[in-house]
Amino acid sequence: MLKISVNKLDELFALIASKQTLYIPADREAGVAEYKKWEQGMKLSNALNTVRSAKDFFFPQTENLVDFKMEGKNIEVIDIRQESEDFVVFGVRACDARSFTILDKVFLVEPVDSYYKNRRDHGTVVTMACTRPAETCFCGVFGIDATEPEGDAVCYNDGENIFFKAHNEKGQKFIDSVSSLLEEGDTSKLDEVQAKTRDILKKLPLANLSTDSFGGDKLMENFNSDKWGELSESCIGCGTCTFVCPTCQCYDIRDFDTGHGIKRFRCWDSCMYSEFTRMAHGNNRNSQLERFRQRFMHKLVYFPSNNNGEFGCVGCGRCLSKCPVSMNIVKVMKALEVK
Ligand code: SF4
Ligand code: SF4
Repeated sequence: MLKISVNKLDELFALIASKQTLYIPADREAGVAEYKKWEQGMKLSNALNTVRSAKDFFFPQTENLVDFKMEGKNIEVIDIRQESEDFVVFGVRACDARSFTILDKVFLVEPVDSYYKNRRDHGTVVTMACTRPAETCFCGVFGIDATEPEGDAVCYNDGENIFFKAHNEKGQKFIDSVSSLLEEGDTSKLDEVQAKTRDILKKLPLANLSTDSFGGDKLMENFNSDKWGELSESCIGCGTCTFVCPTCQCYDIRDFDTGHGIKRFRCWDSCMYSEFTRMAHGNNRNSQLERFRQRFMHKLVYFPSNNNGEFGCVGCGRCLSKCPVSMNIVKVMKALEVK
């Protein structure tokens, strides 16, 4: 397999960035990583994952969809869409890589979301196999192998070298574009690292979480559960869980009056917010219980019901570490589990 020494990562990043825009997980402060546009001297973070997921690259928090120019009674629609630049997102973890598959099932089905597709077409996802999974990780519960992430191309780090493998044409093109820095390498140490990581994954505290009580065929028993009241009681509806979640995809569209026209924006929204479902007639989810239930029913029941059993959670653990009242999908799954 082709590899590069970890000591040559700066050279690798410089070569990638000389051809297209490169984003890597970098430290914002000690142990807190976020995706940043690579610049000379920027180092790959040692943190397991970024606080915000990689979904922003394809589904940004805010985007201008269209403009309207108004002159008297005339309204001109201005299509501001432009071809996205080519870019590489490097170091995406297995959970976030799977989240793109989930988002594709939302944005790339008819009618295709051209904004999302534009970025998907131009972005190359280079994943990084995990070697130090955290106690909050449970991707394996959803059939994700953290040591073999999806993505256009994948990297494996054995501590000394980073190895590359393509999963598709786009990934191969990426590897070809940096091949001048790569050489054939011996993967025996990598095999050991992978075996050790798989051992850790099996022993993680949430490795045995069961999905048996969920899925599209468990609709009414979950919806009518008397556990939702107690589970949602502490939720303050802050929406943090939805904003850090790689698979949450709710948005709102608002018009902004510039004084001489209208700019139409799409912004992330949250089903945890009281105004999320407000319509002309009123609101059909009036209590936090209903809003809370919606979020988890969507991930564990409605999404699999519409997508051949695929759950809408990738077990990244972000909601476990970020909810201010320590409420999360794992607590919901454990509480609703039919034993
Ligand atoms: S579950 Fe936690 S993070 Fe999510 S809205 Fe409620 S309080 Fe906020
Ligand atoms: S629900 Fe929580 S664990 Fe699941 S993908 Fe979203 S943030 Fe990650």
